[in-house]
Amino acid sequence: MLPAHPGDQPDRPGHAGLAELEAREISAWFGERQVLDRVSLTMPAGGITALIGPSGCGKSTFLRILNRMHELVPSAQLAGEVLLDGVDLYDPEFRLTAARRAIGMVFQKPNPFPAMSIQENVLAGLKLTGTRAGRAEKDELVESCLTRAGLWTEVRDRLDAPGGGLSGGQQQRLCIARSLAIRPRVLLMDEPCSALDPTSTRVIEETMLDLAREVTIVIVTHNMQQAARVSDTCAFFLASHGTPGVIVEHGDTYAMFNAPQDQRTNDYVNGRF
Ligand code: ADP
Ligand code: MG
Repeated sequence: MLPAHPGDQPDRPGHAGLAELEAREISAWFGERQVLDRVSLTMPAGGITALIGPSGCGKSTFLRILNRMHELVPSAQLAGEVLLDGVDLYDPEFRLTAARRAIGMVFQKPNPFPAMSIQENVLAGLKLTGTRAGRAEKDELVESCLTRAGLWTEVRDRLDAPGGGLSGGQQQRLCIARSLAIRPRVLLMDEPCSALDPTSTRVIEETMLDLAREVTIVIVTHNMQQAARVSDTCAFFLASHGTPGVIVEHGDTYAMFNAPQDQRTNDYVNGRF
């Protein structure tokens, strides 16, 4: 059982519970230039889906479309649907704040608020979403989120210390804790370990595996071993010779790594390009 959360409202689309995310026929443009072409992918509830593929094939763009960050770029255009448990995220009824609450994002470079304390960092999302909570509720939430992000035992004695004083790996776990505080149903992670050393990377991977029991995870990674270690489902993106990005192959990670159906997938997962 998850602890009660100050922002919980049963009728809210971002309410707790495992959720499936489905992208249907997603195409994306920046100005005239198309960067994704009819990409469809189901990201199963409570699973970890890895998005792999060479640089520039649209993985980050796809991830940003999944929580409506794409529309922040003025030149960006979009076609297709994103469904969170069957509810269209781009429906005008689904408010932008609700979409952001339901679907959290962790970036490549850890970005805690450096001058804010560890505790304030975890609670920062509540301020942004206008959620009110009492002192005891906040303390409970801070402990619960830091525990689930695998950071509690390392920082419990210095919750008032600035977030910027932590190591890179700890900062990334603090960012995960901050995302968890707004109780997302899906956590998107864009190369969350590529700025980290191997030890911190393993800690984050273990955290992800634990978190997948309560939140659906989608991770972009360049690290094939990481994709193989953490994900249940995998999608291989490719944009060849200036054409928009497509998914060449997707499915069960073990099958894709051991018996890829497409020669290009085979070449990529075996490090041949
Ligand atoms: P990946 O994450 O797979 O490396 P991206 O989604 O970042 O790929 O980029 C896909 C394509 O879209 C690239 O050609 C990139 O240059 C272009 N692109 C990404 N963001 C923008 C933007 N804000 N404006 C214009 N083009 C962009
Ligand atoms: Mg990227």
